[in-house]
Amino acid sequence: MSVQARHSRSYYILGYAGTVPFFLVHLACFAAIWTGVSWWSVTMAIVLYYVRMFGVTAGYHRYFAHRAYKTSRVGQFLLAVLATSSAQKGALWWAAHHRHHHRSSDTEDDIHAPKFGFFNSHVGWVLNPDNDATDYAAIPDMAKYPELRFLNEFHLLVPFALGAASYFFGMWMGNAWEGLVVGFFWSTVALWHGTFTINSLTHLWGKRVYPTNDDSRNSFLLAMITCGEGWHNNHHYYQAAARQGFKWWELDPSYLALKVFASIGLVWDLKQPPKKVLELGHADSVISAEQVVAQQAAKAKATTQPEPDESVSEPLAATA
Ligand SMILES: [Zn+2]
Ligand SMILES: [Zn+2]
Repeated sequence: MSVQARHSRSYYILGYAGTVPFFLVHLACFAAIWTGVSWWSVTMAIVLYYVRMFGVTAGYHRYFAHRAYKTSRVGQFLLAVLATSSAQKGALWWAAHHRHHHRSSDTEDDIHAPKFGFFNSHVGWVLNPDNDATDYAAIPDMAKYPELRFLNEFHLLVPFALGAASYFFGMWMGNAWEGLVVGFFWSTVALWHGTFTINSLTHLWGKRVYPTNDDSRNSFLLAMITCGEGWHNNHHYYQAAARQGFKWWELDPSYLALKVFASIGLVWDLKQPPKKVLELGHADSVISAEQVVAQQAAKAKATTQPEPDESVSEPLAATA
């Protein structure tokens, strides 16, 4: 579908004009040449990166998109606030787009399939005005909460507040602009691209241990960048689980943090992958998405009534 087929030209001009701040934040990182870089601002950036990455992975992804565990209404609002501080739009926008990704992974309908262009899968789709709106119908279970809809509509409030807090923290440390530039802008840009690797690189790099109908892969490096999301092939195979590292050595920091929160009662009902799923994933069972499609086509041809496809994970509705 051509771009013009969906909206007017002025819609796109305004839409792309709205992406200018995204590039300005990248440029602002170079202001560190003048503000200087110190141990405290780098530490601040690392802390802001990983705390907010937890918000993105445990909040936006595992809670709002997949409902992989439970928390209170206050807990879910606080999760949304934390995740929204990542400046990746609102929780409902994020989760609705992510549910669409699982319904259409690596097909032409997938808005960030890397096989149709790396740039688009990494960042182009975020900037495209076609993807600006929140499909509330795709996330009715969460859109029913007015406080979440408010936060979704006014999602910039939280990152602006965090930017201001970073400036004042810097002032307290002796250099306000360093707090803003290094502490806030550096960590925000790293957080954007760290998160975006899940849509781009985890469908390109790493091992496939489960025969999913897409190109999802497992990567230790990407898991460390994203608090555990790099075990993406596991996740595509069994989406309902609160954990994405299925083997003991598949380190999943967000899941470990969720277990700590569960031990003090802040979250509960962390969903686990079934035993048969855990036993199935082996590196020697690596199979490409093309092989899966070919096998399914052969199976469909061989029988008039093919058996249900066990490689497909539980439908999202079942996770709600
Ligand atoms: Zn997912
Ligand atoms: Zn994916």
